[in-house]
Amino acid sequence: MRDDFPKKIKELLANRVGCKCSNPSCRKSTRGAAVEKTDFINIGVASHITAASEDGPRYDENMTAEERKSFENGIWLCQSCSKLIDSDVKRYTIDTLKTWKDISERMAVLDLEETVVSKRDGDKELIKFFVQCFDRPAFQDEIHQEGSMEDFDKAIEDTIIALNTGVLRTRDGSIIKESEGKSAVENLEWREKLDTICDMLVALRKRLKLAKETGAYSTYGEGTIMYIFYDKELEMWFDSTREEILKILSVICEDIGVEGLRFRRKRYRW
Ligand SMILES: [Zn+2]
Repeated sequence: MRDDFPKKIKELLANRVGCKCSNPSCRKSTRGAAVEKTDFINIGVASHITAASEDGPRYDENMTAEERKSFENGIWLCQSCSKLIDSDVKRYTIDTLKTWKDISERMAVLDLEETVVSKRDGDKELIKFFVQCFDRPAFQDEIHQEGSMEDFDKAIEDTIIALNTGVLRTRDGSIIKESEGKSAVENLEWREKLDTICDMLVALRKRLKLAKETGAYSTYGEGTIMYIFYDKELEMWFDSTREEILKILSVICEDIGVEGLRFRRKRYRW
């Protein structure tokens, strides 16, 4: 038996996120005018955070049928993202989906407010904001010094969201609409570079997840945790990829005349 959402809940889920896909890296519009004047097109889906039926993704047997079809258990997504979240339940966890929903609801409100103070930042301001997003240890320190791979992963995820949407998630979990996403950058060359950076960030997250699953590293130390990678090549890849990202960013910085960022290498390998 499937615990499907009632129509009212589906509408609420869609409306609370401004009918946009709740994946912060997607934010595709899901509704628009149909040819028929009385109709509209809907490509949005009210997806279940924990599955509607027993064999579905992220199913939670401890939930009641009522809870399963409640507003709390739903998230509004475009069709491709609704398939995406069910294709990899380890990556798209209940926590991740709840974070998406929370960010999207708050962004929908920010979108409403934005029309009041609608001001389009120039490319330079956008780039400055993006540089600020990379000015954190997750992008500047060698990977073996990372205190927590979970925080490291979250920092990268936040940066992808910031690049795509201009929304910054702070340490205390609040979100600030600081800017536009990279698609608003008018200089084509810079935009392409930012797209490349984004692809590299996604690759970092993928390999980090794989590294964890395959036990490519272990930790030592108390208080300040350090990481040992058994796979030295992988360890070097994490460092060189982030170094490369900052180099690409620095080329843009040079173009607009602001200071770029540098990867801090403490150890030298010969
Ligand atoms: Zn989507």
